[in-house]
Amino acid sequence: MPDSHLQPIVCCLGQPVAGNPTQFMIERAFTAAGLDWRYLTLEVAPHDLAAAIAGMRALGFRGGNITIPHKVSVIEHLDGLSQAAELMGAVNCINREGDQLLGENTDGKGFVQSLREQTDPDGKQVVMFGAGGAARAIAVELGLAGADRITLVNRSEQRGRDLVDLLSTKVEVTAELVVWEGDYQIPEGTDLVINATSIGLGDLEARVPVDVDTLTTDTVVADVVFNPPQTRFLREASDCGCRTIDGLGMLVNQGVIGFHVWTDIDADAAVMREALEEYLEL
Ligand code: NDP
Repeated sequence: MPDSHLQPIVCCLGQPVAGNPTQFMIERAFTAAGLDWRYLTLEVAPHDLAAAIAGMRALGFRGGNITIPHKVSVIEHLDGLSQAAELMGAVNCINREGDQLLGENTDGKGFVQSLREQTDPDGKQVVMFGAGGAARAIAVELGLAGADRITLVNRSEQRGRDLVDLLSTKVEVTAELVVWEGDYQIPEGTDLVINATSIGLGDLEARVPVDVDTLTTDTVVADVVFNPPQTRFLREASDCGCRTIDGLGMLVNQGVIGFHVWTDIDADAAVMREALEEYLEL
């Protein structure tokens, strides 16, 4: 059970862009669970991060989310890290245990939980576009969940190489890098294709450079972009007969996981998805 001496307050520290859908979603889940709790979105500049974390401790907050630009720099202010956060070198969720603040990363876990509604990552051949923060979180969790092989396709070679090295040496999953040039041809036998780039964010017509004719009806296709959730990439994959997973599922599930970390209660994922759709006016 959460420590009853703590305030029923969870916060999001960072630079929330265009409001904070997570705040809307989590507060709706608190209400649905009958909890008189608060989720505060607090804009914190980089030079104030140490003071903000000290403030969380002093004020007895139960935990929080950490967003851009603090996901890496917050680590030095915490008392410990989960295995996934340690491997990724990034924290997006803080759990308070007694007087300890512990860093977790729920982005990749949220993706895997959403994926499991369609397929189990164990033994799968994966192609992933992107090597930024979202890609890093997802690739590490897919490796920990038993994916057989991860092919990273990224525009910038160095960023892709860094992630492949992490996957090969620390997660011990077979990984290779393809530097992205022109339309990528999906290799035969690929089970799962993920767009983990920001292509499609806020742009219904943005095109992920992929030869969609190389997708097969057996391929599951996922996109991390949640606004708009029906990206051009997912629409094209769906037209090819693929099963698709949108970015809202990842966002909802990382929220469900965070909610459980802070409250020890299972949140109602349907209520949370409905809240997000309302917030995003879908
Ligand atoms: P980063 O900036 O860390 O990484 C962006 C990635 O996209 C890089 O690999 C970059 O390639 C690639 N990229 C961007 N534009 C292009 C382009 N035109 N052509 C090819 N590659 C491109 O961002 P994040 O990883 O933090 O976020 C990525 C997306 O994931 C965002 O849309 C974000 O909203 C979403 N997201 C969704 C979540 C959810 O819960 N659904 C959670 C977290 C993020 P390069 O290395 O070459 O620059």
